[in-house]
Amino acid sequence: MSPRKRTDSAALPAPVSPERHAAIHGPLLSWYDRNKRDLPWRRTRDPYAIWLSEVMLQQTQVSTVIPYWERFLARFPTVKALASAPLDDVLSGWKGLGYYSRARNLHRAAQEVVERFGGKLPSTAEELLTLPGFGRYTAGAVASIAFGEEAPIVDGNVARVLSRLFEVEGLPGDRDREATLWALASALVKGQRPGDFNQALMEHGATVCRPESPLCLLCPVRDGCIAFKKGRVDELPPAKVRAAPRKLFLALAVWPHAGTLLFARRADKGLFGGLWELPAVEVEEDTSEAEATERLATTLGAPLTLEGTLDSVRRQLTHRDLTLRLLRVTGDKRPTKSAAFQDLRWCTPQEAEALGMSTAMQRALDAVLGHGVLGGDAAPAKKKTASRPARKAAGR
Ligand code: SF4
Repeated sequence: MSPRKRTDSAALPAPVSPERHAAIHGPLLSWYDRNKRDLPWRRTRDPYAIWLSEVMLQQTQVSTVIPYWERFLARFPTVKALASAPLDDVLSGWKGLGYYSRARNLHRAAQEVVERFGGKLPSTAEELLTLPGFGRYTAGAVASIAFGEEAPIVDGNVARVLSRLFEVEGLPGDRDREATLWALASALVKGQRPGDFNQALMEHGATVCRPESPLCLLCPVRDGCIAFKKGRVDELPPAKVRAAPRKLFLALAVWPHAGTLLFARRADKGLFGGLWELPAVEVEEDTSEAEATERLATTLGAPLTLEGTLDSVRRQLTHRDLTLRLLRVTGDKRPTKSAAFQDLRWCTPQEAEALGMSTAMQRALDAVLGHGVLGGDAAPAKKKTASRPARKAAGR
């Protein structure tokens, strides 16, 4: 069994007086009852469905999550169904949502729930924290919303609301600030309907106490807001300085053969871990097409001939500015395995639909098919260069 992690800041003194608690807890709950958005996961008591919504919502907007949540639940309606599904099916069901480590952790956690808890999600934040993918936020959210435990949560919305209400200083990520916020959330959640209270805090941050132009005149807890009283609403919390996204260039092998293309499954760790792609290697911005082809040949363990290039595909990820360079290649020796990938497969476009693939790779595949690489009436590859064999094949 994994080691258990702490779920609250018990070492810190309770930072909220009974009067302030009463001035925030009740009014926020009443406001929530009148104003909450009608979201599908708020109509269910199924802990698994609630857990799934919390995982999907971690990096993705509500409006995007709704159809994914409904489809995923229809495909994997219970923890047991999810646990027994092949990982490929789970990743395929996640296709388009991004941050695929969430899907892999969800799958592993479902398997542990079956093995260790008989298929029933444990009901306390402390136990939930022992499962893969459960951090303090997710454990608190599921324990409070699905099981009514007085477990705190702090996400970006809650942090903003509490920073303003209690004038909490410090930059996001600062340890003292985080400890203070968790201590405040722990104190405030005590009382009636802890799950609804946590959702009220988040909802209030998302719709009223917004990052820009908060609607203070409509705020149910304005009288107790220190930032409002002091005119510091625009200062709290201070904006986090974001690093510029790193530029990343990948060369992709577009290798058509008899109505199929070659696909590779990446190693589990790292960017797009465990997902399928047109076989890719990292290159530099100024890497020549010939050199990129050679690197692909080395990675695939098969000599390649460069036949032409297609338009590159650009994709902006949260931390990366991605450019996918599409190299149309061919070769006499068609590989079926490679040490660099978990698996290689020659698939028709229809077969490829069932593969778990990132949105970026899906866009690249769409571009390839749009160019008529597998035949049809789409435009041909942009240019044709003199064929030349790759100089070497790795390990051969
Ligand atoms: Fe947020 Fe304004 Fe309400 Fe304070 S008064 S909690 S800043 S919305």
